Amino acid sequence: MTRIIDGNEIADGIRAELRASVETLRDAGVQPRLATVLMSDDGASETYVSMKQAACDELGIDGRHHEIDPDAPADELFERIDALNADPAVHGILVQLPLPDHVEKRRVLGRIDPTKDVDGFHPENVGRLVAGDARFKPCTPHGVQRILAAEGIETEGKDAVVVGRSDIVGKPMANLLVQYGDGGNATTTVCHSRTDDLKAKTRRADILVAAAGVPEMIDGDMIREGATVIDVGITRVDADTEKGYELVGDVDFESAKEKADAITPVPGGVGPLTIAMLMYNSVKATGIQSDVAVEL
Ligand code: NDP
Repeated sequence: MTRIIDGNEIADGIRAELRASVETLRDAGVQPRLATVLMSDDGASETYVSMKQAACDELGIDGRHHEIDPDAPADELFERIDALNADPAVHGILVQLPLPDHVEKRRVLGRIDPTKDVDGFHPENVGRLVAGDARFKPCTPHGVQRILAAEGIETEGKDAVVVGRSDIVGKPMANLLVQYGDGGNATTTVCHSRTDDLKAKTRRADILVAAAGVPEMIDGDMIREGATVIDVGITRVDADTEKGYELVGDVDFESAKEKADAITPVPGGVGPLTIAMLMYNSVKATGIQSDVAVEL
């Protein structure tokens, strides 16, 4: 029987652990605070930020939201980041992506204090991840790692295939899978839009992570019998629903589940873990900023 992985349940377990750490910090007189910054009027970005703020509320993290007019000069964003970096009451900073075209993403990510960089996208944190000494693991790949651990899916010696090579999902995912230690030691292949004969690669995967953003591009025929399939993709597709759209993954769930041993659904798979791991990084950042030892 194919196992349908319940991301909400795994995320609930992580949140329960984090609650204890938030208590430890508060008992030491430290109130964790996460600043989210939105410079966009895109509906999906607004939804993601409000979900992150709601997760803060639920855990007792002080979530403060900052909005910058998407037409404002880039300097306005830089000045806000500088002020948040300098504020000792702020422990974590997250700038919601994507940014407007006139704002250079790399300059923004490099401007955030790396010890407050809860997304883990600052070059120093990317370098530390690659070096096997991660400070903040990027939330989505870290969430996938936690799913595999929670489900008892061994990565060591396995063939892992990641479809997608973005800085926020594909590359850090591949990096984590290939690292020494728990959740790593996989033989990892990274595929992208220029990959020749994608099916030949995905069919080799014991663990397949789909993060291309192309709805249902991976069907059962591309999956090895008995594989674990982790669907990171989330695309809003027009649909006759109350909201006018539905969320669709990169995997054709119905045909894939005929082949897979375990599979994440969309929604309710990786998504909840991404937010849980952001909370994890926010608690970790508070520990780093305040020198309070927190169990994580
Ligand atoms: P990007 O668009 O930045 O990257 C997509 C990657 O997929 C690129 O490397 C691209 O290749 C590759 N790709 C695109 N089309 C194909 C194809 N036909 N065959 C093989 N590879 C392909 O997206 P993100 O990494 O930011 O996000 C990926 C998906 O994950 C999106 O649906 C996004 O919404 C979702 N997401 C979900 C999260 C969650 O919490 N569940 C969190 C973050 C993202 P190339 O580099 O050659 O262009």
